[in-house]
Amino acid sequence: MEAEEYGLSQVGPGGQGSGRDIPYQFRQAGPDRSAELADRMRAQLRTVPNFPKDGVQFRDIGPVVGSADLFHDCVEWLTLECAPWGPTHVAAIESRGFILGGALALALGVGFVPVRKAGKLPPPTISREYSLEYSAGTLEIGGDAVGQGHRVVVLDDVLATGGTAVATCDLIERLGAKVVGCAFLLELVGLGGVQQLGDRTMARLLAL
Ligand code: AMP
Repeated sequence: MEAEEYGLSQVGPGGQGSGRDIPYQFRQAGPDRSAELADRMRAQLRTVPNFPKDGVQFRDIGPVVGSADLFHDCVEWLTLECAPWGPTHVAAIESRGFILGGALALALGVGFVPVRKAGKLPPPTISREYSLEYSAGTLEIGGDAVGQGHRVVVLDDVLATGGTAVATCDLIERLGAKVVGCAFLLELVGLGGVQQLGDRTMARLLAL
C-alpha cells in the first residue's frame, strides 16, 4: 500500500520518511484510504451498553484486532501517522493500548514502554493519579524507561475524557522525554478528550 493512499506523501512502507525510516514491510493491501479504513473499523466495533458501568457505551475493539486484515491495516495507519513525528519510543497504556503498542513499536523500529496500573511494574517507578470515563486510579511508568533526548508516542485504543492520556504525557515529561504525539484508533466525541490534550499533536482514525 502506498503512503499517498493515506494522504501522507512523505512516508512509505519500508521507505524514507520525513521523520525516520519504517523498517517493517507492510504487505500490499490494495487501494485503501483512511476514510475507508475508518468505515471498516466502524462496522466491526462492538458497542456494549452499560459496561462496565450503567450509562457507559463501551466500544470494544476486540473484533477490530481480531480481524487479521483490519489489525494489519490499523497498525499500518498508525505507523504512517506516527513515523513523521520521529519517535524513539511508543508508550502504550494498559491494557488495550498494549495490543496495538507492541505492533506499532515493531513496525516503527522503536522501543516499547508500558504504562501500567499501580503495583504492576517493578520499582523504580513514578506514578500519577488519573480519572477516566468510568473510573479512576493510578498509572505508573518505569523510572528509567525513557529520559532526555527520547521522543515518545502515546498510544491508546480509545480517547474519551483524555484523563488517561494526559496522565501518561505527564509521566513521560516528568522523566525528561518529549511527547511527540498522541495516537488513538477511536475518539469518543463530546467527552472533552481533544480539549484536554490541548495543542498536542494528535492522530485518531475514527471519531464517534
Ligand atoms: P479517558 O481517560 O476517559 O480518555 O479514557 C480512555 C481510556 O479508558 C482508554 O484506555 C480506553 O480503553 C478506556 N475507555 C474509556 N471509555 C471507554 C469506552 N466508552 N469504551 C471503551 N474504552 C473506554
